Amino acid sequence: MKMHNFSAGPAILPATVLEQAADAVRDFDGLGLSILEISHRSPSFTKVLAETESLVRELLDLNDDYGVIFISGGASAEFFLTAMNLLNEDERAGYLDTGTWSTKAIKEAKLFGGVEVLASSKDKNFNYIPKGYPIPQGLKYVHVTSNNTIYGTQIKDWPETDAPLVADMSSDIFSRRLPMEKFGIIYAGAQKNMGPAGVTMVIIRKDLLGTVKRALPSMLDYRVHIEKGSTFNTPPVYPIYVCMLTLRWVKAQGGLEAMEKINEAKAKLLYDEIERNPKFKCTIPDPIDRSLMNVTFVTTEEADTAPFMEAAKAAGVDALKGHRSVGGFRASIYNAMPIESVQVLVDVMKGF
Ligand code: PMP
Repeated sequence: MKMHNFSAGPAILPATVLEQAADAVRDFDGLGLSILEISHRSPSFTKVLAETESLVRELLDLNDDYGVIFISGGASAEFFLTAMNLLNEDERAGYLDTGTWSTKAIKEAKLFGGVEVLASSKDKNFNYIPKGYPIPQGLKYVHVTSNNTIYGTQIKDWPETDAPLVADMSSDIFSRRLPMEKFGIIYAGAQKNMGPAGVTMVIIRKDLLGTVKRALPSMLDYRVHIEKGSTFNTPPVYPIYVCMLTLRWVKAQGGLEAMEKINEAKAKLLYDEIERNPKFKCTIPDPIDRSLMNVTFVTTEEADTAPFMEAAKAAGVDALKGHRSVGGFRASIYNAMPIESVQVLVDVMKGF
C-alpha cells in the first residue's frame, strides 16, 4: 500500500525527485558513473552546485548582497555559527523564544556575546507566537525560528526592528514568499522542505560578515564558504543534488507564490476538519499562529488517541505521532505533501 508520509523530518520528497535521485545513483549525467562516486570538483557536479544556487536566488529573488552556501553540521551547527560569525562579546542580539529549537539557539549564542530574550511562549508550552513585545535599539540582530516544527506554530508577522533578522527556517523554507530585505541570515537544514538530511543551506547578507574580532577557524567562517562557493572542503554532494531536483520541482509548481497558495489550501483542509469534528482539538488556540507545515492536534477524549492512530495507520497514514514534548498528533504537510494525502487523513477523521 502507498504510505502517506506525514513525518516531521527527514520528510516527504516529491515522487519525481525520488525517481531522478535514484537514476543518478546508477548513472549520473551520462557519465557511466554514479553521482555517489564522482568528484565534487568535476564539471558535472560544478554544474549542479551552480544550478542549485541559482534556483535559490531565483525563487527567493536574492540579489548579490547575499551569499548562498551549502554546508554540513545541520541547523544545530548554525545555532552557534550565526552568533560566532556576527556577534562580538560586547554586543547584544535579541532572541525570540518559541520552542525547543529557539531555546537551543539561545544557549549556543550565549557562548559568544550578549543575548537578550525578547519574549518567550514557554509559559504555555510554546503554543503561541509572542506579539507586541518591545525590541530595544542597537541589537546586532534578532533571531527567530520561523516555524516551530515540534509545537506547530509559525510566525506570520515578522518582528518590526531595524536590526537584521536571523531566521532558522528549517521547517518552512521555500513554503511561502519572504520579505528578503528584513533578513540578514536565513538557515535551514534541508531534510524537511528542501531535500534529504546532510546539508544545510545558509543565506547570508555579506556586509554583516567580517565585523567580529575573534579568530574564526576556516571551516566555521561563513566568508570562507562563500568565497569558495561551498567547496572549501568536500560538500555533501548527493544531498545537494537532491536539493537541486527539489528546487526545480518547486519552480515547476509556479515558485513560492504558487507554493504558498497550495500550502494554505492543504492546511485549511486539515484545520477546518479539526475545528468541525468534535472528536479533535487543535493544540494551537489562535488560528493566526497555526503552522501551515506542522499541524498539531489531539483527540478531545484521551481514550480515542490509540484507536485513531490505528484507524490512520490502516488508511496508510504514516508518522502521525506528535513529538514527545507535546503528545497527540502532528501532521507534517510540507511542500511535497500532495493535497490528496491530506484528504486521506481528513477522511479518516471524518469516519472516526
Ligand atoms: N531547527 C528546526 C526548526 C528544526 O525543526 C530542527 C530539526 N527538527 C532543527 C533546527 C535541528 O536541525 P538539525 O537536526 O539539522 O540540526
